[in-house]
Amino acid sequence: MRIEAVEGDITTESVDAIVNAANSQLMGGGGVDGAIHAAAGPTLLHECRRLRAARWHDGLPVGEAVATGAGELEAQWVIHTVGPNRHRGQTDPDLLASCFRRSLEVAEEVGARTIAFPAISAGVYGWDAAEVAAIAVDTVRSHPGHEVDLVRFVLFGAPVAQHFRETLGA
Ligand code: ADP
Repeated sequence: MRIEAVEGDITTESVDAIVNAANSQLMGGGGVDGAIHAAAGPTLLHECRRLRAARWHDGLPVGEAVATGAGELEAQWVIHTVGPNRHRGQTDPDLLASCFRRSLEVAEEVGARTIAFPAISAGVYGWDAAEVAAIAVDTVRSHPGHEVDLVRFVLFGAPVAQHFRETLGA
């Protein structure tokens, strides 16, 4: 599995699956979630609503992940995962690791071979970007599956990208 980190806008990535730092309501929002919904168009929200109605009435739990189509994005799938929110006292690193692990498992389930991740929880949810980088890289590196060929971290802003590059180089 190749693992890389680039600075950029995840919505323009032409990988098989883009991971969304969603909220548990799966209703879109700000940050990367809002950008993904805006770029994908309204079918993404419809799919999220259907998923909630069918399976996740109480919302998607923190650390869980689920796939939908990707609307007008170049990717084929969006994998929605809910990061822990530090402002709500969700400080357990295992919850964040679970986001990366479950997203990879869901990618394998749908047959995605290339996958792009944002810095889950490093925005509004208040986690330190260096800590997110450490947990993300460690979890992806120790993932036992072999079906995914490429994991690309796509980071907004040079400082966050630098944390991921340093972690990958370490
Ligand atoms: P969370 O609520 O999980 O913290 P945010 O969307 O607030 O999620 O932020 C997560 C990270 O995604 C932040 O580093 C933010 O700068 C970044 N981000 C925002 N928009 C994009 C985008 N279009 N592509 C990649 N990363 C983005």
